[in-house]
Amino acid sequence: MSNVSGRNIARLSRIFQPIIAHIATTKKTEVPSKSYKNLIKYGMMKQVNSGMYAFLPMGLRVLNKLTAIVDKEMEKIGAQKMLLPALTSRDLWEKTDRLRENISELFHVKDRSNKHYILSPTYEETICNLMSTVGVLSSKTFPVRLYQVSTKWRDEMKPRLGFLRSKEFLMKDLYTFDTNISEAQETYTSVCEAYDNIFKKLGIQFMKAIGDPGSIGGSLSHEYHYTCNIGEDTLCICSSCEYAINKTMCNQSQCPKCNGDFREENTSEVGHTFLLDTKFTKPLNVTQKLKNESIPLAMGSYGLGLSRIFTVATEILSTEEELRFPKAIAPYTVCVILPKKGSKEETGSQYLNEIIETLDRLNIDFVLDDRTNLTIGNRLMHSRVSGFPYAIVIGKSTIRSPPLIEVHDIYDSTSYELPTEDIPNYFNDRAMKI
Ligand SMILES: [Zn+2]
Repeated sequence: MSNVSGRNIARLSRIFQPIIAHIATTKKTEVPSKSYKNLIKYGMMKQVNSGMYAFLPMGLRVLNKLTAIVDKEMEKIGAQKMLLPALTSRDLWEKTDRLRENISELFHVKDRSNKHYILSPTYEETICNLMSTVGVLSSKTFPVRLYQVSTKWRDEMKPRLGFLRSKEFLMKDLYTFDTNISEAQETYTSVCEAYDNIFKKLGIQFMKAIGDPGSIGGSLSHEYHYTCNIGEDTLCICSSCEYAINKTMCNQSQCPKCNGDFREENTSEVGHTFLLDTKFTKPLNVTQKLKNESIPLAMGSYGLGLSRIFTVATEILSTEEELRFPKAIAPYTVCVILPKKGSKEETGSQYLNEIIETLDRLNIDFVLDDRTNLTIGNRLMHSRVSGFPYAIVIGKSTIRSPPLIEVHDIYDSTSYELPTEDIPNYFNDRAMKI
């Protein structure tokens, strides 16, 4: 059993997932969150400073799976992944006049020669500076679509509920450059489609609203929102059509499209798209040569708050007692529970190799609950609270004739006893593949 299928199998006995029995209750003034305390209690993340959290291995798996979905969709629209330095020269932000608006939320850093930097909350200035210094690009290079997945910083006055509003957070930011505004608009449409695909894969109803350009500005902007009681935004949503707008932008009581009435919903913003045109490329001199004239490129900026999607999606799906994730990004899709040590059903362990080979073939990730000193019931409960969508239990029914394996769909509260050869059908029916 120690050498199943000749590779390293993830085992719960080895995973760093510190479970905390007592959690300090949240402040009375806070809206109660169903998932926040359990994300900490069940060792997904840990607070290290005010507004700063560590993703522990189980939580990081969720975040990495989310990033993989985003990477796939970015690749489909020809976006190329890169990585910019965390520090941006303060001079650059002075050129675009953004320092005045954001100054209290920026982290400032000085190097040994007294040069002033900021820890970047966003990278329009940095990417434009880079683009302006690479020389003339061939027309074949366009559209240029560059993105990164990296930590961003904001010195929040009131950090809240883990990564809902934290000083340090993970964001996917994409910057696009086209040779003219109509092509930039095509890019904008493609990115919005990619975002729709990402949110559809997560399976939670999302809303796309007319956005607040805020300090980034530009000519066209949309926001992606999840309806959520812990959210800090309010959307005005038309009751007759799909029109939605951020309340901060809404100055009428009826939908401008169909005159339908607005209803208000508490939401959390998880993504944002901006068609910036030449707002940044002009002052930062990101140009192309056309008939000996330097024309600024048309730019777009597109963000996805990955650590916030993690937080809000978990909040929407979880219960007070049990963590739930979108199935596509759960820490492990399946938890395989071994028989208790010294029990009658211990001989059922002989089926483990076959189960592992089957899951490998189906490309389903799993973790082995090898804490065989604990009862099966106890470990099934752990699977439930930790948010694993499925559990495969090698229990009593494996010593009956014919031997059967228990498969639990934890999120649906259903379970079946199946011969091992039926496991592929079980998962194929549930369209497990992303
Ligand atoms: Zn309407």
